[in-house]
Amino acid sequence: MIDTVLERFLRYVVIDTQSDPASSAQPSTEKQKDLGRLLVDELLAIGLSDAHLDEHGNVYATIPANVEKPVPVICFCSHMDTAPDFTGTNVRPQIVRNYQGGDIRLTGDTSRVIRVADNPELNAQIGHDIVTTDGTTLLGADDKAGVAEIMTAAQYLMDHPEIRRGKIRILFTTDEEIGRGADKVDLQKLGASFGYTLDGSTVGEIENETFSADGVDIAINGVAIHPGTAKGKMENAIKIASEIVARLPKDIAPETTEGKQGFIHPVDISGSMEKAHISLIIRDFVEEGLKTKETLLEELTKEVMKAYPGSTFTFTIKEQYRNMKVALDRHPMVVDNLVEAVRRIGLTPELHSIRGGTDGSRLSFMGLPCPNIFTGGHAYHSPLEWVSRQDMEKSVETIVELVKVWEERTPG
Ligand SMILES: [Zn+2]
Repeated sequence: MIDTVLERFLRYVVIDTQSDPASSAQPSTEKQKDLGRLLVDELLAIGLSDAHLDEHGNVYATIPANVEKPVPVICFCSHMDTAPDFTGTNVRPQIVRNYQGGDIRLTGDTSRVIRVADNPELNAQIGHDIVTTDGTTLLGADDKAGVAEIMTAAQYLMDHPEIRRGKIRILFTTDEEIGRGADKVDLQKLGASFGYTLDGSTVGEIENETFSADGVDIAINGVAIHPGTAKGKMENAIKIASEIVARLPKDIAPETTEGKQGFIHPVDISGSMEKAHISLIIRDFVEEGLKTKETLLEELTKEVMKAYPGSTFTFTIKEQYRNMKVALDRHPMVVDNLVEAVRRIGLTPELHSIRGGTDGSRLSFMGLPCPNIFTGGHAYHSPLEWVSRQDMEKSVETIVELVKVWEERTPG
């Protein structure tokens, strides 16, 4: 088990699987299937006989149960694509063996340095083997570390039939980085009761909370008129929209909030004299907080509109995703069992919230409660990304231990 997760990781990161937000296909890039096909071959080779790639590039496979007890079917999930933020072509992984502290200067672009000051987690890595890029690409530990960990755990479980287990489903998705990872997942076909994404970071961290998210569209119809004869009549929609944006509360913005605070954030504005349009995103950890912000935004819009009696507006709220904790709290054993597994392998479990969403938050509300497990990766989406072999091994151990906990805690 010790070397395998590193070997697998090094094999997967050199395959370019960058997703593309400009494409409307799924997968957004055909090359994501290159990794999918390799994984299917490897899953078949370790004895998961139903492993296959579907038309959207998702990989499904099953580790069969070896007990009679009705252990709930759990799923382990990672995404195969890498972020569009930085190139993933010609990844040349480098290994700093037996790291002794200090900054890591990357060999292919020496202007790039992984600094301890920016990565205090490096202080916990003394003696570890750290994988980096050569500085010219991202590494893709997000999320190929997760993929390698699930693959390694699958092989370990198949090689150790004495470990009692329920049925385990494996799912590798495409296009997570462009927000479409859960779109084409067939939960019926997956047939799992609960899931775990391996897409987190520092060892020991469990993410069981995400933002709740809505989008708001404000469409303004002004009064357009020839500027030469506009006095007392024109109501320029561009100016109305600008006024609304200028009045957004400055202390409820992404740039002024942190921790559990939510925000209102304009993401797009366009317009002409006649019509203007503002798109905003609303974020909070509780639904009540979303409502308060939406009311505030609507009131503020009405307030601005009062000065423009000939103009009208529409205010549309669209639900985007919900804090996964709401779904997880209905099934406390999903996180409890994970906490127990992490503790058993000698780590201190830490529950974290994410100021964002994950595939897990989408899946949680599609019916698959799904917290996020650490993979050991750091500095995602950048050429300074890194992960250590020892941390990846901890993630593999966590998966194996979690399988045991589910079996043990099922009465039967
Ligand atoms: Zn990821």
